Amino acid sequence: MSPGDAACRVCGAGTGAPFAHKDGYRFARCGHCGFVYLDPMPSSEALAALYDGGTGGDITAESYPKAASRLRRARVRALRFWRHLRGRDILDIGCGGGFMVEAMGWLGARAVGVDIDSQAIAYATQQFPRRRFIAADFDDFAGHGLTFDFVHASEVMEHVPDIGRYMTVLAAITRPGGRVFITTPDIGHRRVPDDVTEWDMFSPPTHVQFFDAATIATLFDRHGFRPRRRYFKLKPGLQILAERL
Ligand SMILES: [Zn+2]
Repeated sequence: MSPGDAACRVCGAGTGAPFAHKDGYRFARCGHCGFVYLDPMPSSEALAALYDGGTGGDITAESYPKAASRLRRARVRALRFWRHLRGRDILDIGCGGGFMVEAMGWLGARAVGVDIDSQAIAYATQQFPRRRFIAADFDDFAGHGLTFDFVHASEVMEHVPDIGRYMTVLAAITRPGGRVFITTPDIGHRRVPDDVTEWDMFSPPTHVQFFDAATIATLFDRHGFRPRRRYFKLKPGLQILAERL
């Protein structure tokens, strides 16, 4: 697909125009909402191959260096959401080594983690045997039929090739009145370099799209969520807490 061929996945109204290129990849920008995305978008299969560590090598305690400080940081973040956690069903999408799942479980949640990387899930299962971890693509995960009161997804949305499908799944697994907390790079932040290709987050093909405060709000709104809180960051990152309507 080339710019102009398809309606914007975020606003559904605009079409894309050439925006920037880096390392042989081209990005387009929606003329209506400003959403920036890889064009053409790589397939899910091509991207999945980047993330699944497969079966090579052994999972050891050293697979995640500084595990103790990772767990400490996860607990500090989880404490922000304590009122949404105790006795609730929560999911961490892209859970990696399982630190956030463990931290949320520590605060009394029934915590589940999902990650496409089977090596990461093997590590998490070994380190945190009291929690539940599932190795799956997020689309496949939807087939498990589980629903949640709180969904955490840190630095995930910039990796997802079909963001419309992702949001549909997110809406399906989040119970009405439930919350989702997401973080993703903020292309609208004043500290993003004037030449966007110099931004360290501007890294195709792993980062396939970029949001700002307006496009993320539009995306949530169109998929049945109401943004409840936006956290202001010194670094170019968005942190949004949204309610499932
Ligand atoms: Zn748009």
